[in-house]
Amino acid sequence: MHSAAGTFKQRASIALKDVTLQASLGKLTREGLVVRRAKAVSEFPEFEALREEGRRIKDHVLAHLDFYLERYEAEVKRAGGQVHWARDAEEARAIVVGLCRAANAKTVARGKSMVGEEIGVADALEEAGNHVVETDLGEYIIQLAHERPSHIIVPAVHKTRAQVADLFKSAHLELGIDGARDSIASLVDEARRVLREQFFRADVGITGANFLIAESGSHIIVTNEGNGDLTSTLPRVHIVTAGIERVVPTLEDASALLRLLARSATGQPTETYTTVTTGPRRAGDLDGPSEYHVVLVDNGRSKMLGGEFRPMLRCIRCGACMNHCPVYASIGGHAYGWVYPGPMGAVLTPLIVGLDKNRDLPNACTLNGRCEDVCPVRIPLPDLLRKIRNLQFERGFAPPALRWGLKAWAFVVQRPRLYHALTPIGARLLALLGGRRGRIASLPLAGGWTQVRDLPAPQGRTFMAIWKDRDRASQ
Ligand code: SF4
Repeated sequence: MHSAAGTFKQRASIALKDVTLQASLGKLTREGLVVRRAKAVSEFPEFEALREEGRRIKDHVLAHLDFYLERYEAEVKRAGGQVHWARDAEEARAIVVGLCRAANAKTVARGKSMVGEEIGVADALEEAGNHVVETDLGEYIIQLAHERPSHIIVPAVHKTRAQVADLFKSAHLELGIDGARDSIASLVDEARRVLREQFFRADVGITGANFLIAESGSHIIVTNEGNGDLTSTLPRVHIVTAGIERVVPTLEDASALLRLLARSATGQPTETYTTVTTGPRRAGDLDGPSEYHVVLVDNGRSKMLGGEFRPMLRCIRCGACMNHCPVYASIGGHAYGWVYPGPMGAVLTPLIVGLDKNRDLPNACTLNGRCEDVCPVRIPLPDLLRKIRNLQFERGFAPPALRWGLKAWAFVVQRPRLYHALTPIGARLLALLGGRRGRIASLPLAGGWTQVRDLPAPQGRTFMAIWKDRDRASQ
């Protein structure tokens, strides 16, 4: 999956001026998923205890990941399926393309899968001559728009109803389908008519997996549209692409995590469809694929597992962190430049794609901690972002101005006398810059801040000066 054009700052500044995007983001973060999650959590008193249990389950699996992956592989084979191991995105793409070629596939149906986006499977299949159809409604919309998902749960959140109607009109008229397109229901109905046809035509169905169950070799997918079930049962070959961290020991562990996932993602007690699949169709089964393959993708995860970023592998891709993030709420998902947006993306993208290629991303965070507060598996996202910043600094990837600024700051704050001598001078200079208005409209070296807001100038004396006076008076 290729990164978007331009720098993070350029993409963010375009997003901030996009009126339609700002309206959609406002609905999502102020009225939509945030409100629904809060209601679901308030109606579920065991939620905090379940978060702790979710964290414990994931930490246990990650500490014994080799054991559970081998157990899972053995069980998949026992059920008649095959497991393929992919070290990176390139290997994963090659495996999926090879499986589709071996199946002599022409049409490939895809269910929503973030790891599928991560490895760029749709582009690889199109290049190999397959016709790829996204079957999740949001993914289908952005496929028609030739865009990437802007949210991991609601991929087309940035699109308005009118924009979707225009996309459907130009794509469906040539198929002879012309709907009313005057309401969301009519648009959904039109998409359903088009996609139904594709399910029956598809030779291969590719889905992700919310969880892989080691004890049975099963995988679980949850959807609200039922497209995952049709994608995995109707085509003659089913391919599951999943990150290696998706494995959990038992079905019971998965059900604890599913309860957290649904409430955190969409504020539902459970998603509409939860499907457990084990291997290909058996004798006597009414439906199901004749071949069942699982592609287990590493793509940087083993490296995370062995170091200080292991907690990031607890992520169950619920999207709550981005829904509660003021940065995501201001710029949306495309500005993050890759598959994963929001706080989880600000950690995952530099770790998978490269610290040097994503210099701005971990620094575009206010570290307000809301993401960690809502994360169902308690991932310390602000702490991980701080660690990435440190690594970038140590490896010389931070911009020179920031590096020298931090060095100067560290020099001064380690010398209290110098610090106390300089702060009143700095405060006075800032007060002078603020003038009579008491607000600074342009500050050297901090142009990004003052470009869209004034900085209040310091008022009166410094805290240390007042403290010293109080100290003297009390003696
Ligand atoms: S980091 Fe936490 S809140 Fe964000 S998507 Fe992952 S599990 Fe959900």
